[in-house]
Amino acid sequence: MTAKNLDGKALASKIRQSLKEKVSLRTAKGFNPPGLAVILVGQNPASEVYVRNKRNACKEVGFHSVSHNLPKETSEKELLSLIGELNADSSINGILVQLPLPNHIDENKVTESIIPEKDVDGFHPYNVGRLTLKMPLLRPCTPKGIMTLLAETGIDLVGKEAVIVGASNIVGRPAALELLMARCTVTVCHSKTVDLDAHLKRADIVVAAVGIPGFVRGDQLKDDAIIIDVGINRLESGKLVGDVDFDSASQGASWITPVPGGVGPMTIASLLENTLQAMEIADKKG
Ligand code: NAP
Repeated sequence: MTAKNLDGKALASKIRQSLKEKVSLRTAKGFNPPGLAVILVGQNPASEVYVRNKRNACKEVGFHSVSHNLPKETSEKELLSLIGELNADSSINGILVQLPLPNHIDENKVTESIIPEKDVDGFHPYNVGRLTLKMPLLRPCTPKGIMTLLAETGIDLVGKEAVIVGASNIVGRPAALELLMARCTVTVCHSKTVDLDAHLKRADIVVAAVGIPGFVRGDQLKDDAIIIDVGINRLESGKLVGDVDFDSASQGASWITPVPGGVGPMTIASLLENTLQAMEIADKKG
């Protein structure tokens, strides 16, 4: 059997359309649109592409978008001072600092300096803590996008064996919390996992977030598994590929996300949803 395509590009486009309608209803009543500030420090080519896509998506849905492109020499103090200003700016509902940051800046300190109500990436310990306690508020974007994609399959997730390959703070760990909240039985694998194959072979759902092109192959997977490929890897040829070997994995899987066009667009759609949610939180506070 050949897997069905779990089309993140199409789903993200539907989400953006719905957000655009909500924003125009709001602005027609004379209210401000949601505002997102995106900060980029230095000139990492991959980060520049991600930031451009996020800014374009904001424009498309009618958000107020503010860009701060800072030189790589920017000090931690200067960055924290800018975040302080944005924390206090009522036209800004979400603050996103594109990672990775240059080595002289402490990423944890920067993440913690964004007030949790504007932490639209969902990386602040407050928001991660809430997710851990099954009372999520602003949820990390990539795992949130994965859950929206899984819902699209119509498959009941309760009791499913979910195996996540990768345990990063931004993908693997929060994805585990999301899947646990959906009542899956969750295993998180990492570089020290013994017998990865045994874990993969019993997985009904595989989330691959390793950063190695084609790392998960079809022969390692259970028949009919749902395969979520988070990886974004650029080969020397310029081709973009995921962490899953798409051709072999799609032979026996039930659903699979393509790269590009799977999880990537859903991450951005979740960021926009979070920004609207952050604005609603600010509205309630008055
Ligand atoms: P990361 O921080 O580098 O983490 C990689 C994880 O993979 C680590 O937990 C690491 O284990 C694990 N790992 C490495 N080698 C392994 C092996 N041989 N076997 C099992 N696990 C292994 O990466 P990340 O930020 O999570 O990103 C992962 C991929 O997703 C990258 O390709 C990135 O570009 C992509 N990404 C995509 C999106 C999107 O929107 N689509 C968003 C974020 C990231 P240890 O913990 O033991 O080191």
